[in-house]
Order: sequence, then C-alpha cells, then structure tokens
Amino acid sequence: MQFKEIVGQAAVKQRLINSVNENRVSHAQLFLGPEGSGSLALAVAYAQYLCCEDKQPNDSCGVCSSCRKYQKLMHPDLHFSYPFFAKHKDDTALTFIEQWREAFIAYPYLSLDIWRDYLDAENKQANINIAECHQIIKKLSLKPFESTYKVLILWLPEYLDKEGNALLKIIEEPQPNTLFLLVAQNQDQILNTILSRTQLIKIPSLGYNDIKNYLIEKHNQTEDAAAQVAYLSNGNLTEALVMLQQDTKGYHKIFVDWLRLCYANKGLEIFPFVDQIAKMGRENQKNFLRYGVSFIRECCLLMAGAGNLVHLPAQELDTAQKMTNVMNIEQAQAISAELEKTHYHVERNANPKILFLDVSLQIIKVLKFKTIPQGTQYIPN
Ligand SMILES: [Zn+2]
Repeated sequence: MQFKEIVGQAAVKQRLINSVNENRVSHAQLFLGPEGSGSLALAVAYAQYLCCEDKQPNDSCGVCSSCRKYQKLMHPDLHFSYPFFAKHKDDTALTFIEQWREAFIAYPYLSLDIWRDYLDAENKQANINIAECHQIIKKLSLKPFESTYKVLILWLPEYLDKEGNALLKIIEEPQPNTLFLLVAQNQDQILNTILSRTQLIKIPSLGYNDIKNYLIEKHNQTEDAAAQVAYLSNGNLTEALVMLQQDTKGYHKIFVDWLRLCYANKGLEIFPFVDQIAKMGRENQKNFLRYGVSFIRECCLLMAGAGNLVHLPAQELDTAQKMTNVMNIEQAQAISAELEKTHYHVERNANPKILFLDVSLQIIKVLKFKTIPQGTQYIPN
C-alpha cells in the first residue's frame, strides 16, 4: 500500500512521512479514525514507507524487495492482529491470515462487516482473545528478519478483552526497532491503560469532495450519481463503495411515501410498506435508514435557516422544503433518533417486519400526535 493509493488525508500523510524522515518514529502509535477514513490503509502505507529500501520524498518506491512483499502483506517483519471469531480456543489471528490478506487487498477500506463476510461468521461475536495476545507478545519479542523494523498492526483494539492488559509491558518496554500500530475507531472503547501509553494520530473522516471526486475518477460515476453517494456516505468511503454496488436511487421516494403514510396515520397501508422494506435485505435496509437520517438532517438545516449548507438534488430539496411545513426541529430529531435506533437493531438482525412496524408506529406518534419520546428533547443552552 502506497500513500498515493489512499484518498485525501494529505495532512496526515505528511505528518507520517515527516516522522520517518526526521527520525521521530514513536514505537507505539494509535491511529484513531472513523470507519471509511482510511486509517488501516494509512497504517500499512506508513509501515511500508518506514521499511522501504528506496524511500522517495513523498512515498515508498513500490518496487524494492521490501515494498513488493509489503504489497502482498507477505513481509516476514510485518504482522497483523485483528478481531476474529474463534472456533477453537487456540485460534489466533494467524489462523485467518489468508482471508485477511485477501480481504485487505480487495478492500483496503475494510469494515468489520466486510471482514465478517470473509470469515463466514454472520452473527458471532468478534474479539481478540488471550491466545492472540500471547501470540502478539511472542511475535514482537523476536528480532526483525530482513528489515530494520518489525511492525505489528493491530486493527480494532476495541475488541481486545481485558486480557489486553497483557500487552502493556511490550507497549511500555518494547524491543528495539519494533513498531506497534493500533488502528481504532472508538476512543471510548479502548482500554485506558493502552490509550495512555500510545501516541495518538487522529484521522478525520473524508470530505464530501474527496469522496465525490474519487467516485468520478476511479469508479466512472457521473457527477450526479457521485454527488448522491458522497452525500449519503457522510465521509465514510467504505459505505460509499458498498452503496455503489447497490441501488440507492428510489430511497427518496420510498422514504417520503413512508413519512406521508405515517403523517396521515394510515395504519392499513403501512403493512404493505413494511412488507416491501422487509424484502429489501439487511444492507439495503441499513442504507435506506441512513438515507432517511441524512434527509431529516437536511430538513433540520432548512428549518434552522442554514439552507446554504444543504446538498440535495432539486427534486428532493423541494420535498424537504414541504416537509418543514409539517414538522418542527424537535419532531425531526425524534424521528432521526428512531431511525438511528432501527439501524442499530437491523445490524443486530432484528426481525425486519416487527422492527419497521414498530418504528412506523413511533413515527406516527411523533408526526401525527406530536408525542416526543423522553430523552430526545432538544435542550437549548
Ligand atoms: Zn520500496
């Protein structure tokens, strides 16, 4: 992985490159960035740069023996650790290394969902178990074979059990020339003891234009299609790429029809709607809900007088403007919270018919009867 293959993130790339060229590589670093920001790809590109035998000012060379091994994730001094679904208690990340290489090379913007598909483990709980922690300690205690540096990239330390504390000693007193890169999404879910011992590299989510231009240039999307996906993906390139493979058009009509049914409290017509949604499949349902949340957010911007920040195509803008006549910000936020909650349950495989019927009833309450659920009220300063 070379820096040039990674979308945007110019400032982070420069900072990483400078740290190598100025000889300030800290041995334990935490790359913290939301899903789809490219944090894992950046960590791999950084390690490749560090070990490259012919470093260029702004990137690794891509052709030396080290780079070639890095590109296949087959360098003997490059190790990975990641959550997996242990079938036996002795399973470690190494058990799944073939799937890992295949997944990362195909999807450098890997998410846990995509990784789960590679592991064929639909509903199982992922984690990094104690056997894996011992394996990490063992790997890091060996001297590098070929490079000056031995690198271990640990993806999603959020999934370390309490046993993760076993790693503290190697983070604190590493072997010389070892580099420990943690790549995380949620700071609050990382063991504090680990957090306090690593240097933090914050990676922002991507900008709207970064994603839009990437989709136009690398995925041959039209300006309009790229704009729509960039807008829905909210800075998450992983999501944007998943959406490219699905039909996102049509969400607007279904969503608005749904709100209309709810507003009119047309109980009987809601059932066929729920059936239609239930047949969409999990990924589509998630995207549909995400579309709903984005659309409601744009309505809120309009209501707050910030129409200049709204990114909707003309026809959707027109509907959004009409929506602002039938709901206020408080109702919009309550609906948005219901959609978020539904998204959470879809991810956890709730029964879609029951789920969408329930959320429809909640939206009727909010839109028609103006009952705002507790805890969602907007509290002004
Ligand atoms: Zn090289």
